[in-house]
Amino acid sequence: MTEVMIPRLCVIGVGLIGGSLARALKRSGAVGEVVGSGRCENNLRKALELGVVDRYETRLAAAVTGADVVLVAVPLGAIGAIFQSIAAALPDQAVLTDVGSSKGSVIADAIQAFGHLPPSFVPGHPIAGTERSGVEASFAELFQKRRVILTPLLETDPAAHNLIRTMWQATGAEVVDMGVRHHDEVLAATSHLPHMLAYALVDTLARMDDRAEIFRYAAGGFRDFTRIASSDPQMWHDICLANREALLAVLASFSADLARLSDAIRRADSQPILELFQRAKRARDNLYHLE
Ligand code: NAP
Repeated sequence: MTEVMIPRLCVIGVGLIGGSLARALKRSGAVGEVVGSGRCENNLRKALELGVVDRYETRLAAAVTGADVVLVAVPLGAIGAIFQSIAAALPDQAVLTDVGSSKGSVIADAIQAFGHLPPSFVPGHPIAGTERSGVEASFAELFQKRRVILTPLLETDPAAHNLIRTMWQATGAEVVDMGVRHHDEVLAATSHLPHMLAYALVDTLARMDDRAEIFRYAAGGFRDFTRIASSDPQMWHDICLANREALLAVLASFSADLARLSDAIRRADSQPILELFQRAKRARDNLYHLE
């Protein structure tokens, strides 16, 4: 019989990401017991009924007791308070990790709560998700063939880093390491900016007087472009504030490009418009191998 990789996993925030990780690790046999914790007992009871956790604790200190890995999977705005609440109770042997969509803010939260960066802390971010939330939306295959970014620091214990890398690999994910700042800049461009655009576009149209008429004629392209505007507002509120420096930089660069396009349209200047569309089509076709 092979040894269980993580005898006891504590998941704080058993939602889409925390629940999916628990399901995937249970299915692969990588985890012994999963203990859930969070804010709302109804949600934890649901997680128990669904078999996502083996038991739950509403008190965070009790939840982390005896854990080998503690995964924090709550919205970014709540991570600092969670770190504060578990700091005194975290077992010496426990490896602490998170799934927050911005890494600089989570690392600052950890330093504030623990007084230093604990060597057993391995910051992480799975590049996987859906626009749905909550434990009912979780599924074991979510991370298969998806990337998980870890942003270990100089202080990070190599054994802790290795355990979290192996944990994510057991879900079928490809694990890559990245610097914290680079992570936050890349994700601002590829994930956070598109969410801002989708929310802003839907909101602009939804506030127009003839919105019923507009939405009646919205076709597949509109649906594709705006799917992510159905994502959880609180989660995205937290992300855009947590990663605001990198997000503001990419928003400024995008706004300048949009202003240039607007100007070319006003002047009916075909060449820059066509060149922009051709460049963008080539880039997207290359990305998704459509050529
Ligand atoms: P989710 O489905 O809404 O789950 C969040 C969980 O956290 C819920 O179980 C919620 O349960 C709990 N929670 C919320 N506020 C809390 C608080 N103040 N204290 C304790 N527990 C709290 O969200 P998710 O999509 O899994 O996202 C979780 C984290 O993963 C976020 O940091 C997000 O940035 C990151 N992430 C998300 C995606 C994505 O696409 N969804 C992808 C990668 C990373 P209760 O309400 O019952 O407490």
